[in-house]
Amino acid sequence: MENKMSFYNTLTRKVEQFIPNEDGKVAMYTCGPTVYHFAHIGNLRSYIMEDVLEKTLRYVGYDVKRVMNITDVGHLSSDADTGEDKMLKGAKREKKTVMEIAKFYTDAFFADCAKLNIKTPDVVEPATNCIAEFIHMIEVLLEKEYAYESGGNIYFDTSKLDDYYVFSSQNEKELLVGVRDDVDEDENKRNKSDFVLWFTKSKFDDQELKWDSPWGVGYPGWHIECSCISMKHLGEYMDIHCGGVDNIFPHHTNEIAQSESYVGHKWCNYWFHVHHLNDKSGKMSKSKGDFLTVSLLLEKGYNPLVYRLFCLQSHYRKPLEFSYEVLDNMVAAYEKLVKRIASLQQDGAIEENKYNEYRAKFEAALCDDLNTSMAVTVLYDMLKADMTDATKFALVKSYDEVLSLNLTTAHGEKEQDNNIDAELESYVLAKIEERKAAKKEKDFAKADAIRNELLEKGIVLEDTREGVKWKKM
Ligand code: AMP
Ligand code: ZN
Repeated sequence: MENKMSFYNTLTRKVEQFIPNEDGKVAMYTCGPTVYHFAHIGNLRSYIMEDVLEKTLRYVGYDVKRVMNITDVGHLSSDADTGEDKMLKGAKREKKTVMEIAKFYTDAFFADCAKLNIKTPDVVEPATNCIAEFIHMIEVLLEKEYAYESGGNIYFDTSKLDDYYVFSSQNEKELLVGVRDDVDEDENKRNKSDFVLWFTKSKFDDQELKWDSPWGVGYPGWHIECSCISMKHLGEYMDIHCGGVDNIFPHHTNEIAQSESYVGHKWCNYWFHVHHLNDKSGKMSKSKGDFLTVSLLLEKGYNPLVYRLFCLQSHYRKPLEFSYEVLDNMVAAYEKLVKRIASLQQDGAIEENKYNEYRAKFEAALCDDLNTSMAVTVLYDMLKADMTDATKFALVKSYDEVLSLNLTTAHGEKEQDNNIDAELESYVLAKIEERKAAKKEKDFAKADAIRNELLEKGIVLEDTREGVKWKKM
């Protein structure tokens, strides 16, 4: 098929035409959330833009397989293998087990994604499901002498590579932007840039989840999970790997080091990175404690899709500063837009030429390094252009496959919300009680089935600290 998509490849540092390994097919991987807390809207900026990338690829005709991990073990407070495990930190904070924390925040993550119309990837795999695969990859790396044992841990030896810093010619210090805490020197490392593949010894020996391994009871490092999980589902060749810019170093740099050493050839051709959402005090991060979530936006009365529009209005390669003033402007713009669309006469003839012309314009904007704000401009231009309402409505429906802003259904939602009838309310409350009982019995499959049953009826459940809340989609 014709390859018309271009986007910025962090590996080559330029905007490139996208050509997949296999004609018409895309193998795509996304670093998933570390599930020790709610996702903040900064994390979700990355997932929104990755969702737009995936949907654009599908829109222009590719068959996409997208895989995402869930980090439920091994991500330490500093990305450079030091500090306490983030999951353990979350479990202590909430006096729960690590697996309870993982389950709760994984569900919360997907509930947030659903509110933002972010499609769930085709495959989602928690790291704790794949311990055997991690051990196997580490064994091969040891055999090939890319790894070594020291002080009870297994490290990757970065001096074995000609070019460890594949993403940049910058020195290590400059690259340490992704490392959040002060870096403690680990004397076991042969080289400063070496990283842990498997821990049996750490300063934090109260680690809750541990597994047997040929090197003793322990747990995997963070980076190995993405290499293994992506290969498990996508094979040894990958087209696109995504993440936020803080993942470039050390996480993605380390993923490339170990994956290519393991397979013995180039692994992933295109690296897509989304810039950060900042607040007035800098990068939004979970470790700051007080951060903005989708639930908070909802509590303040914002439709989460207004936040999606806010993200689409700026380019994914530029830092974006969050402010309520801009969000308020977006509310007004969104409401005006959906009202305008609701006023279109849906019945009538579709003008094929116009339809094709404006579909091509929309595609061209997205294929030009995912220029989402230009794509939104095409939408506005199209609504003003000279064509039948039915053509316009059909185009809006088509654009919304990528924009995912509920453009043809959002108008009038508020009025509907006010009319939730008592019968529905008592039905949902009974289901919530049934789900609570199932959870208490640790029957999580039943609890999930109840959530899904409600979802099919358009009811979204939200687990909050104050209890379960629900609303109509
Ligand atoms: P984490 O849950 O911390 O592993 O992060 C999940 C995803 O969010 C990763 O791809 C990060 O690179 C990304 N991310 C973290 N902070 C931000 C931010 N402030 N803005 C945009 N993306 C972010
Ligand atoms: Zn990753």
